[in-house]
Amino acid sequence: MKGTHGRAPLRTLEHLIEEHDLQGKRVLVRVDFNVPLEEGEDGLQVADDTRIRAALPTIDRLQAAGATLVLVSHLGRPKGAPEERYRMGPVARRLGELLGQEVRYLKTDGPASPEQQRYVESAPSGSITLLENSRFDARETANDIEMARTLASYADFYVNDAFGAAHRAHATTEAVARLLPSAAGGLMSGELEALSKLTNDPARPFVVVLGGAKVSDKLGVIESLLDQADAIIIGGAMAYTFELANGGRVGGSLVEPDLVDTAKRILETAQERGVQLLLPADSLCAQELEADAETQVFPSNDIPDGWAGYDVGPQATEEFSALLEGARTVFWNGPLGVFETPPFHTGTTAVATVVAGLDAYTVVGGGDSIAALAATGLQDDIDHVSTGGGASLEFVEGVDLPGVKALEAD
Ligand code: ADP
Ligand code: MG
Repeated sequence: MKGTHGRAPLRTLEHLIEEHDLQGKRVLVRVDFNVPLEEGEDGLQVADDTRIRAALPTIDRLQAAGATLVLVSHLGRPKGAPEERYRMGPVARRLGELLGQEVRYLKTDGPASPEQQRYVESAPSGSITLLENSRFDARETANDIEMARTLASYADFYVNDAFGAAHRAHATTEAVARLLPSAAGGLMSGELEALSKLTNDPARPFVVVLGGAKVSDKLGVIESLLDQADAIIIGGAMAYTFELANGGRVGGSLVEPDLVDTAKRILETAQERGVQLLLPADSLCAQELEADAETQVFPSNDIPDGWAGYDVGPQATEEFSALLEGARTVFWNGPLGVFETPPFHTGTTAVATVVAGLDAYTVVGGGDSIAALAATGLQDDIDHVSTGGGASLEFVEGVDLPGVKALEAD
């Protein structure tokens, strides 16, 4: 398989298993178990185990090869110190249920703490241990080499299967990979392979759909897509900053005034390069954002004061659909409206239905985009649903992902 952007080859799980006898060896696996939790009968429990299930093939593969596993992940946003609500206990329980096997877990101050070290040392051959939340240790986000050394001391090999965290240079994703023989897990390899089809000579026309709340979140990817895509469809609140740049009035729609000049420059660049940049002709507007609020459709560049655009309108949906019909490759990131509040899911659902029905290579990424897609039940009709929001955007942008770079064979 190809490396990130066709550079150094990536060492995969297959290579690791072919080149080394893992029987009785310890493997440290960085997983993305950053799952939502909810209050249950016996305290906190996993609310959505999609990310845990996504790691099962790599875990099974390594166990079948005879390895003893030490898993590590971050969960939520603790600030470099232990916090009860972010402990990995509920995740260990759920993983154990899914595997039908005990998953060892000990409440500790962090994955590199002395108690954690003793607990890992006592792991029986063939067992699975889930370490405490990596972000309980302030050294994680600092990509600290001492923390990485402690983690590396737990194992003979390192496998990174956390694509969703690959755009961060952290101790568990970057520093540790430089200390042990390393490989990409199955989920990581699959993501890179699927996303490479967007950056590596995509079938044309290549149409990108961008939505969501903020232009600032997607600026890098828009600028780099101006070099790669044939057309860019812009929906969501992002569109209104572009409408302002074109001299429109957008009422109370969500805008980023300090990005109007940037939006102007993007519109000019698109025109110079012959990239079609399609904004929503009309918007579904309301006076307040409420479920089943009274709505009215206005041109997106002529929304009266007191009204705000919360979804793309019917004409926009029709134009977006018509443009997508001709596409051979589609990348979609960001809902086209406030899909959480009906009826402002309408545009997103309609476009999801069109994308799912295309005879094209289709990729959807982004946490909210996936939630919106899941609500339509159409995810099986998309070629690749990326588990990494930020990581998939940075990959498409052409930025080196530190967690991937550290795995490249040298
Ligand atoms: P993703 O997680 O898929 O990358 P984002 O986080 O960038 O997507 O954007 C999702 C958010 O954008 C959603 O919470 C949605 O309600 C919001 N959004 C989309 N359109 C609008 C709009 N017109 N006004 C306000 N918020 C919007
Ligand atoms: Mg989001």
